[in-house]
Amino acid sequence: MSKADIKSMTLTELSEAFAALGLQKYRAPQVYKWLHEGAASFDEMTNLPKDLRQGLNEKYYIAVAETELKTVSQKDGTVKYLFRLIDGEHVESVLMKYHHGYSICISTQVGCKMGCTFCATGKTGFARNLTASEMLSQINSAEADIGGRISNIVMMGMGEPLDNYDNVIRFLRLASSEEGMNIGLRHISLSTCGIVPKIYALMEENLPITLSVSLHAPNDEIRSETMPVNGTWGIDEILAACKAYSEKTKRRISFEYAMISGRNDSDACAHELAKRLRGIHAHINLIPVNDVTGTGFKKSNVERQKRFADILEKAGYTATVRRTLGSDIEASCGQLKRKFTQGGQQNDS
Ligand code: SAH
Ligand code: SF4
Repeated sequence: MSKADIKSMTLTELSEAFAALGLQKYRAPQVYKWLHEGAASFDEMTNLPKDLRQGLNEKYYIAVAETELKTVSQKDGTVKYLFRLIDGEHVESVLMKYHHGYSICISTQVGCKMGCTFCATGKTGFARNLTASEMLSQINSAEADIGGRISNIVMMGMGEPLDNYDNVIRFLRLASSEEGMNIGLRHISLSTCGIVPKIYALMEENLPITLSVSLHAPNDEIRSETMPVNGTWGIDEILAACKAYSEKTKRRISFEYAMISGRNDSDACAHELAKRLRGIHAHINLIPVNDVTGTGFKKSNVERQKRFADILEKAGYTATVRRTLGSDIEASCGQLKRKFTQGGQQNDS
């Protein structure tokens, strides 16, 4: 019989399962607390009797994310982890320090099915979904490494979160649970390439997270060149979903826009984008594209970035050029893993 994934269980589910095993009521909160503080084995749960620890170990397994590689940016202290999962698959997380505390960018899948041409993860194909517990374990491992608490989560690492919907929703409920990590949903962002039916589903969950949408183009023609998913749901459908989402949740939508020189960064593109986003409570995050896939995409220069942001601001939006943290350690999604699996070496500094 295969073991069950205990760290993906909610406290209610754990309490019901323990009651069915005839355990005392206080055991479930005790075990839940250990799990969410990062215990990697039942033997660490020193306030449980030995026979109970053994019994649990026969029935359940605890998901882990073990550090395979760690790279620290000499420029800004950003830390990039390559984690090994229980079946030997690898995912990445990036830890950033801001004035308000630590923020972690976690992965939600091993690989990704969406195949965006600028993305290192998209290039590797798809292996499997992560469990909710594996998403939590990335945070636990980083917290153990820094010896402190992480206050913000961004779901912007490897994978498309809305293509792993049920596990992602479960993760959000677990990470924000008072008895667990207790990270407020307002401190969590989720980034999607635009899986429209799931944006509507997420809207109905009533979770006050920040939704980020990777738009990267003002029209379908340009977007379809780099994002195959645009063939399924085009910009009109995505923006209609965003409008509904923002109206229902009263939350501002954050649009990601990777600026690629000569492709999507002209004044005309900025004006068209401003027009398309009209009526949506939006913030635009401009990201100079990182040429990780060898496609020859060049970053827009600083002058172009400023001019693009300026046009959007004049049209009434807030637009920021994202600080590229960890630029010396390839802290964009999928890059470290690609290097690792291609046999490249990283400094373990
Ligand atoms: N699958 C989700 C979340 C993970 S990707 C999504 O696509 O939104 C996180 C962000 O990094 C997305 O906005 C994605 O478009 C962006 N990204 C991927 N590769 C990039 C690159 N080479 N340069 C700049 N941004 C990139
Ligand atoms: Fe997947 Fe996001 Fe990369 Fe596109 S950008 S391939 S959706 S991880």
